[in-house]
Amino acid sequence: MYDPNNIFAKIIRKEIPSKIVYEDDKVLFINDINPQAKIHILCIPKTKAVDFCDFISKSSQETVCNFYSKINKIIKNHELEKTGFRLVANSGKDANQEVPHFHIHILGGETLNRID
Ligand code: 5GP
Repeated sequence: MYDPNNIFAKIIRKEIPSKIVYEDDKVLFINDINPQAKIHILCIPKTKAVDFCDFISKSSQETVCNFYSKINKIIKNHELEKTGFRLVANSGKDANQEVPHFHIHILGGETLNRID
């Protein structure tokens, strides 16, 4: 069940400030408050979805495609395709998802630790 009072919902509604990287009517991309890499951007679709599976089930192909296209644009804007980057979508309890509004982390700008 989607909680409309989760932190990202409040950030989307501008009830909580954030450092905006990109915004339009469908998505909000912000800098992570506790960055785990030199570049750490949170890509948040405005769809009221708890996690990855919820986002896919609630969204049209156009919405999903639009979201990933915007992520691609931000990757290119930061020239991360030249050096590399990581995309992470923590979903659910076992992944320790902290904020129950679907989002993808872009991590890059430096060499990242391997995840083995
Ligand atoms: P999750 O574990 O849900 O994938 O990650 C949630 C992310 O949101 C964490 O990296 C955390 O630092 C970030 N975060 C939590 N609260 C805030 C906030 O109020 N503002 C911003 N910009 N990021 C937040």
